[in-house]
Amino acid sequence: NAEIAFAGRSNVGKSSLLNKLFGIKIAKISSNPGKTRSINFYNVDNKGYLVDLPGYGFANVSKSEKKKWADLMEDYFKNRYSLQMVFLLIDHRHEPQKKDIEMIQWLKELEIPFMIVLTKLDKLKKNERVKQLNLIKSHLSKYGDYIYFPVSSKTGEGIGQLKNEIIKFLK
Ligand code: GDP
Repeated sequence: NAEIAFAGRSNVGKSSLLNKLFGIKIAKISSNPGKTRSINFYNVDNKGYLVDLPGYGFANVSKSEKKKWADLMEDYFKNRYSLQMVFLLIDHRHEPQKKDIEMIQWLKELEIPFMIVLTKLDKLKKNERVKQLNLIKSHLSKYGDYIYFPVSSKTGEGIGQLKNEIIKFLK
């Protein structure tokens, strides 16, 4: 069965997005940052699985928590026979952070295909959007040419386009 995975920094808006896209409610552990969640699989109409990868980039995380995260991810990527696509979430308001770049480099190294979802689009003024998109694209262009989906889980902007793309992998 096909798997589509979602990755990104903690707080980037992953659970809001999965909820908006597929009505998935993710139990959060935000009161306890650094506690690595496990990898969760959600069955979509028996056509495939959405894979919720644990967030990264908490500021005050112990070495052992970081290792736990890396072990979980490595384990998953090692046995990724059904993984069709990773959607990497990046906050649309900010330049990609060091951890995002590391994630991109890792995915590239492992030859895992991925696309980029830019979250919290509603937080950008309409006249800032094109500029910010181009800024992010130019930052990431040295790593490759990617497909970008600017979305807002709050207003629903861009959600339809992203969902259409995801559904292609679940047939
Ligand atoms: P996660 O840690 O990646 O799962 O992030 P969450 O989905 O829990 O979102 C983190 C915070 O960002 C929460 O306060 C959300 O309400 C907020 N948030 C998520 N998506 C959006 C969005 O599209 N627009 C706005 N304005 N806020 C968002």
